[in-house]
Amino acid sequence: MNLISPFQFHEQNGPIYITGPCSAETREQVLATAKALKQQNTCSYFRAGIWKPRTRPNSFEGVGVEGLKWLQEVKSTYKIPVACEVAMPSHVEATLEHGIDLLWIGARTTASPFAMQEIANALKGENIPVLVKNPINAELSLWLGGIERLEKAGINQIGAIHRGFSGIEHGIYRNLPMWHVPMELKRLNPELPVICDPSHITGQRDLIQKVSQYAMDLNFDGLMIETHPTPEDALSDASQQVTPTNLKEIINNLIIKNESSHCKTYEHQLEFLRAKIDRIDDELIELLKSRSDVSKQIGVLKKDENVTIFQQSRMDELMKLRLERAKSQGLSEELIEKIFTHIHSDSVNIQAKVFEKETK
Ligand code: PEP
Ligand code: MN
Repeated sequence: MNLISPFQFHEQNGPIYITGPCSAETREQVLATAKALKQQNTCSYFRAGIWKPRTRPNSFEGVGVEGLKWLQEVKSTYKIPVACEVAMPSHVEATLEHGIDLLWIGARTTASPFAMQEIANALKGENIPVLVKNPINAELSLWLGGIERLEKAGINQIGAIHRGFSGIEHGIYRNLPMWHVPMELKRLNPELPVICDPSHITGQRDLIQKVSQYAMDLNFDGLMIETHPTPEDALSDASQQVTPTNLKEIINNLIIKNESSHCKTYEHQLEFLRAKIDRIDDELIELLKSRSDVSKQIGVLKKDENVTIFQQSRMDELMKLRLERAKSQGLSEELIEKIFTHIHSDSVNIQAKVFEKETK
C-alpha cells in the first residue's frame, strides 16, 4: 500500500489530535467548543458528527446539513481544519460542497462492503484525507477491505482509526480494544497512519487518560477525543465526552516516547538483550519441534491401540498443571492458556495426520 504519512496532511510534528463534540448540536455549542480548543491549542482537526449512525432509532440522529455551516464557521473563525463522518454518497457530496477538510468512515459503515464501495465511488478523484474506523466486529480483513476500496478509488491520504470492537463480554470498556488487531494492521501497512479513539473504546471519560497513554506507548499517530462544553448535557455519548479543560489535562499528562534513541549505551544494551531474546526464541522453536515429534509417536501408539486422538480428561489435566506452573512462575495464566490451547490443537492435527496416513 502506498500511503503518505499523516504529517503531510497535517503540519504539526507530533501526535494528531482530532477533538470536538460527538455531535454538532447547536451553533453555539460547536463554536464554544472550537473557541476553547483553539485557545488551549489542543485541536489539529475539529471533529463533529453531523449525521449520527445510532444503533437504535428515536435517539438524536444529528442536525444534518445545517451543521456543516457551523463547521465552516469554525474553519473561518478559528483557522482549524474541520472533520466529520460520512456514511453515504449524499454525505460525501454535502461535505465536499462545504469545504470539509477531512472525512472519516464510522465503524458501522466500515462493516458494510456495499456502503464502503458507494462511498469510495463518490470520492473518486477527490483529494481529501479519509480515515477509516475499524468495523464494529473484530475482522481485520473488513477493515483492510474498506481501506483498499478507497485506495482503488484514487484516495491517497488514507488513515485508520481504532475505536475498539463490540463484544458480548465488555469488561470495563464500551468496546474491547483488542490491541493486536490495529497492531496487525500497522504491521501489514507500516506507512498507514493509525489514530486511536479512546472515547469510543472506553465509553467513560475517567478511563480516557489511561487508554490514550497506552496508544501513545504503542506508537499510534494520534488521538480522537470527544470534547463537549457540558458533557453531561450532550445529546449523544454523554458519559464519554470530556470538557476542553479535561482534554487539556489529558494531553498535558501524556508522555510521548520516541520510536528510537541514538544514545550509545541504550543501543548496546538493547542489542545485547535482543540477541538474548533471539536465542530464547530459537530454543522455544527447537522445544516445539521436540514436542511435536513426541506427539507424533503418541499418535502412532494410539492408532495401534485403536484409541481416539482426543481425550478431554488429558486436556483438562494438562491445562490445569500448566496453569499452576505458570502461576508459580509469575506468568500470565491467560497467556499460558492461549499458548497451550494452540499447542494442543496442533498436537491433535499432527496425530490426525498419523491416523490418516496409516489408514490409507
Ligand atoms: C463517532 O465518532 O461519534 C462515532 C459514531 O463513532 P463510531 O463509528 O466509532 O461508533
Ligand atoms: Mn460518539
